[in-house]
Parts: sequence; C-alpha cells; structure tokens
Amino acid sequence: MNPVFNRFSIPAFLVFFLMSLVSAVPSGTAKPAEPVVRVLVIENQKDLRFTVGGRFKITPLPVSGRGAQTFRKAIGVSVAPSPLGLGIGGKDWVTRGVRLEPDEDNDLWLNASRFRGALDIWKDKNGFLYAINRVPLEEYLYGVLHHEVAPWWPMEALKAQAVAARTYARYQMSVSAAAEFDLKSTTSSQVYGGSTTERYRTKKAVDDTASEVLTYGGKIFPAYFHATCAGMTAGAAELWKIDLAPVAGGVVCDYCQISPHYYWHAKIPLSEIEEAFRANGRPLGQILGIEIVTQTPSHRAGSLRVTGTTQSALVAVKDFRVWMGGDRIRSAFFTVRTHSDAAEFSGKGWGHGVGLCQWGALGQALFGKNYKDILKFYYPGSEITSLRS
Ligand SMILES: [Zn+2]
Repeated sequence: MNPVFNRFSIPAFLVFFLMSLVSAVPSGTAKPAEPVVRVLVIENQKDLRFTVGGRFKITPLPVSGRGAQTFRKAIGVSVAPSPLGLGIGGKDWVTRGVRLEPDEDNDLWLNASRFRGALDIWKDKNGFLYAINRVPLEEYLYGVLHHEVAPWWPMEALKAQAVAARTYARYQMSVSAAAEFDLKSTTSSQVYGGSTTERYRTKKAVDDTASEVLTYGGKIFPAYFHATCAGMTAGAAELWKIDLAPVAGGVVCDYCQISPHYYWHAKIPLSEIEEAFRANGRPLGQILGIEIVTQTPSHRAGSLRVTGTTQSALVAVKDFRVWMGGDRIRSAFFTVRTHSDAAEFSGKGWGHGVGLCQWGALGQALFGKNYKDILKFYYPGSEITSLRS
C-alpha cells in the first residue's frame, strides 16, 4: 500500500513530485564543524522508505554541485533501484546514489530508525541498496553508547565507554579514508541505532567527555572493548596483527564477577558443526571429536582440532566463533566435551576479551573509581588527550 502524505490520502509519489515544483528555495543546512563519521546503516535492500519532517535537499552523488533539489517535507517516500538509477517517490533519478540532507533540526527517518546528519543511499552493482549515515562524531556516539552499556550504569562507567568508543571511531576514520564508509552499525564495529535509541545519561557521558580520546605514543589506537573478560583481558595480537601495549592483554580483572555473562554453556548438535565446516569449504564427514590444541597467552582456546570420519581439520577459534555465532560460542575462554550427538562447550566471559571490559568498568565504578582510572587500568600506558587542545 502506498504511504500517505500528512492526513490526506494522496499517494506519496505524487506529493513528492509536486513538492519538487516549489523547491527553488536555497537550502540553509548548517554544516557541522566537527569530524563527520560515515556509518553503513543498511545494506542489501530492494526498497527503502524515508520521512523528513521539514525542508531537506536531495543531491545526486558523487556531489558535483549540479542537480540538487530542495523539498518541503516527505512522508514514507520510497527509494528503489530503477533501470536508469534510483526511483524516488516514483520519479527517476539518473544516478547511482543520492544524499538526503535535512535542514538543521529536521528529523530524518529511514525505515524505522531516526538519524541525525545526512544519509547517502547508493545502488550497488547487483542492484541492491545500501545507506551510509554521515553524522558528526559526537552525535554518532549518542547513538552508540546506549547499545553498548545500560543507561542506568554509574556515570564513570558510561564516561569510560564514551572515551573508548570515540577513540575506536577516530581510529577507524583514520584508516578508512579510501573506503566508502568508516564503520558498520553492528557488533563488527560498534552497535549504532541512529538517534532513535539515544538516552539522557549516555548522551551526558558523551558530552561530559567531549573530544577526549586515548592515545599511545601520541597516536590514537584501536581501543577495543567487550562485554566481560571473565578474569583476564586478551591481547589484540591473539586475534589480529596489532601489537600495541594498551591492547596487549593480560590485565587481571576481578571486577566483572557481577556480570550475568560471566559463565556460559552451549550444547551444539554435531550435525550443525559438520554443516558449518562444509559451508566453509572444510568437509570432514561425521565429526568424531573436538579438542583444543593451542592456548593463547591469556589462557583462551587458540585453535581446535576437529576430527571427522573422512579427515580432520585445525581451525582458529576466532573463525569457529564466527561460523557458529558469537552469541552461542560467546568467548574463546572454554572447554569442550564431545558426545555421540553433540559438543558441549562450557565457557566464561562474552566477547573477544581485548581492551576495556564493560562489566569490569561497571564493577570499578561501583568501587568508586573514576573513568580515567578505569581507562588506564584496561589500556595500560595510554594517555587521555583532548582533541580540542
Ligand atoms: Zn573483566
């Protein structure tokens, strides 16, 4: 069914077309002075809908200064791939991408999420749509923090998370200049839900630490974080090619014992594990046994040998977690027993274990530590630097 515009039952595409005829007013969009982060918020879609509560501009991409049009508002307007480029509200735009840019203070909704800043919508080479939110860094952090920590946590824990998330984002921005976007909006980067999910206390934690980042030797580094380390943080080098003191791991953390994620247990049918190996190009036949063959310096499982009826395979635990799902194999801190029909994993902690332990930060804040103490504990050797100075 077509969306409607205001309270009148007029098809949105028609209203949208009429709006374009009265759009000769120059846009007064204010450009933020602070750095803008580019976040991939949607991918692989055949149809999107957007709503803007006030005046906004559509600019064909890449920006050339030509072809921009200003509109008064739009409600539930569809965007879909078309033979010429993009169909927006039923009108063809001969371009592979457009930028939707509301005037200041006008809400921009894409599907069910509200976003600050601007949105670029692109058609990929397979004809699917993806969207990149271009948002000032501090406003991006408003939309991240609530997903990473609970707004009711002590303010010092929230502030520690704000500085870690800002540092991580700044690092990603510094290494992704040639890429189309800096970050994804999922756990592969840090979880971001647009401005729909902002909360007062997490927003305050961002404001209270505005522009503060962690540095090591004067440089911003990837300040990884995770939910619960369960006793000791892991080294970044256990997972990636990163060898820096603040994320070298081995920090003994007793503060996350209050975490509800401290222990986990997963019983997975062997048939599912067999299928995962087959799907990843490593067919083993029927699985007979699974054993841990190497341990990491932080005493996590480093690699597994999986023995099947046709062959056996060595697999890195970080890959195995991705194959089976990080919500099931919640950490590399586990033991495993193989039964006739299932493998039983008993583990501790949640996440990769590198850098700041979120539940440990909560525990430390409850013990009266401030956010600077917490950050220096989890990122040894780091400094807190203001980008304003
Ligand atoms: Zn911990």
